[in-house]
Amino acid sequence: MTAAPRTLPGADLCVHCGFCLQACPTYLTLDDENDSPRGRIVLMKGLAAGTLSATDDAVGNHLDQCLGCRACETACPSGVPYGQLLEQTRAETATARPIGFLSRVVLATFAHPPLMAIAMAGARLLRALRITRLLARVPGRLGNLMATLEATRRGAAASYPPAPVTRARVAVLQGCVMEGLLAPVNRATERTLARNGYALCSAEGQQCCGALHAHAGDRETARALARANIAAFEQSGAAFVAVNSAGCGSAMKEYGHLLAGDAAWHDRAAAFGAQVRDVSELLAEAGPVPARGAAIKVAVDHPCHLMHGQRLSDPPARVLAAIGGIAATELPDAAQCCGSAGLYSLAQPALSQRILAPKLNGIGASGATIVATGNPGCMMHISAGLIRAGSDARALHPVELLDAAYATDHQADHQGGSR
Ligand code: SF4
Ligand code: SF4
Repeated sequence: MTAAPRTLPGADLCVHCGFCLQACPTYLTLDDENDSPRGRIVLMKGLAAGTLSATDDAVGNHLDQCLGCRACETACPSGVPYGQLLEQTRAETATARPIGFLSRVVLATFAHPPLMAIAMAGARLLRALRITRLLARVPGRLGNLMATLEATRRGAAASYPPAPVTRARVAVLQGCVMEGLLAPVNRATERTLARNGYALCSAEGQQCCGALHAHAGDRETARALARANIAAFEQSGAAFVAVNSAGCGSAMKEYGHLLAGDAAWHDRAAAFGAQVRDVSELLAEAGPVPARGAAIKVAVDHPCHLMHGQRLSDPPARVLAAIGGIAATELPDAAQCCGSAGLYSLAQPALSQRILAPKLNGIGASGATIVATGNPGCMMHISAGLIRAGSDARALHPVELLDAAYATDHQADHQGGSR
């Protein structure tokens, strides 16, 4: 049975030129027009017109296999808002084609802080007991999950003093996975901002950003989380909201679009979105303060929601360029998705690994021991792949590298001064 016709704003901008095809990781991997942006736009238009049905797996599977990476948006000369088309289609077909059970469990956990706290505590316990390390190379989903958790292991915290406050008041999004499993990245974010003259404040009551819910088609939960975050950050009095997760930052900058139909919240959401900055934007705005750091070879990868969602590649490069010891080179496929893509590695495990494989080869060929990428999902997915391949290389956030360089300089200066 097909649904009544509905509108799909922006879909008619597609002129079928095909410029997006070579940018699309699923098209390059599967070599099927239906798994290309152009093909999926035709399918989405068919669903909107009511000539295709979302219950038809021959249609639904091609849309499920889309990463939502938005590389096609960057490549498109006609300005097709592909990410918005996909989110709208997934939301409007969610009843006919429900979100998978595992994904629903994860989404419910992310939307309820007490459940999230229990899940994160359990994951940290597995990591502390080194069970994640022990099982990281077991074949299949269990090994993948353990490797992904093992990828969040970090060493001792860095230490150096902040600079006097010369810049704006900033509140940092704590995030779900970031604070639950990668809290050292949040602390590095706070230290590097303070070292660059920003005044930090907290935003009590902040929650998950809702990006995963919106991408999966659960827009109502995403809207509820967006309203909670807008209220929390307004209360903080911060001039900027600093975000160290590219996926969260991209979604939060677009809260105005998410709440476009909500008269009571739309203006607040648009004003909030204008205050959101990726942490690299704030650091680049401040210079950042240069550091000598240790000599390391770094391969650079661009998170999709930074490169394509927020159109940012220069600010993270400037963060790395501020570290004198770093020799940084971009991976050949730096602008292509790693296969993490929110819940994609859970929902499409086999395809996610196929998409990751060329990137792991590129990292191996680069000879780098560190991959710099500013998104928790990418860091975990890439590091998990490296762990399972037996490589010692790891993916870290650019602010972790800057933080470590500031600490190295401080320690060296301190030792030099005390001699
Ligand atoms: S590049 Fe844009 S206009 Fe051309 S086929 Fe792709 S989505 Fe359509
Ligand atoms: S969002 Fe990514 S995977 Fe989906 S069609 Fe666009 S380029 Fe391909």
